Amino acid sequence: MTINATLINLYHVCPRECWLHVNGINMEHTSDTVYDGKLLHETSYPQRNEKHSELSIEADYNHVSLYGKIDFYDARQKIIHETKRSDKVEKAHEWQVKFYLWLLKLNGINDATATLEYPLLRHTAHLSLDDGDVAYLKSAVTSIARLKEDEQCPPVIHSKICKSCSYYELCYINE
Ligand code: SF4
Repeated sequence: MTINATLINLYHVCPRECWLHVNGINMEHTSDTVYDGKLLHETSYPQRNEKHSELSIEADYNHVSLYGKIDFYDARQKIIHETKRSDKVEKAHEWQVKFYLWLLKLNGINDATATLEYPLLRHTAHLSLDDGDVAYLKSAVTSIARLKEDEQCPPVIHSKICKSCSYYELCYINE
């Protein structure tokens, strides 16, 4: 299997959501969201577009393929720019970006950093990757690969985020 940033993000939010996604039960239309994020970046930061390029990057960890597509990478400064439309700062967004930093590191680019930008909030977070982050990402990748093989769907998490999850009706149909 190939693990990408979407799976890292979902795993951080809810292992059940990740299991449903890796098993092909997909109720989200992520392509629109991705397009929306790119459009937001281009309209919010038009002056930055010339020095940024799109970067597809692959690596292997523990016999699992990893893949990421970074929309805006400044190769000269070694900075990833990721833009979120969200009006909330979320930890899962950080893990998505740190996953990209890890992929760069696995490809020999060791000291890259990232900026995570929320134009609607006028907030920017500056991120780098430390040993603890790498340990978390390794364990997340191992857990996601195991989840894929697990026939049993993880339990419902009963969290307030469930109400805004696309699987809400599926998870709570009997409650
Ligand atoms: S509704 Fe809740 S338990 Fe179900 S997949 Fe979404 S976040 Fe997870």
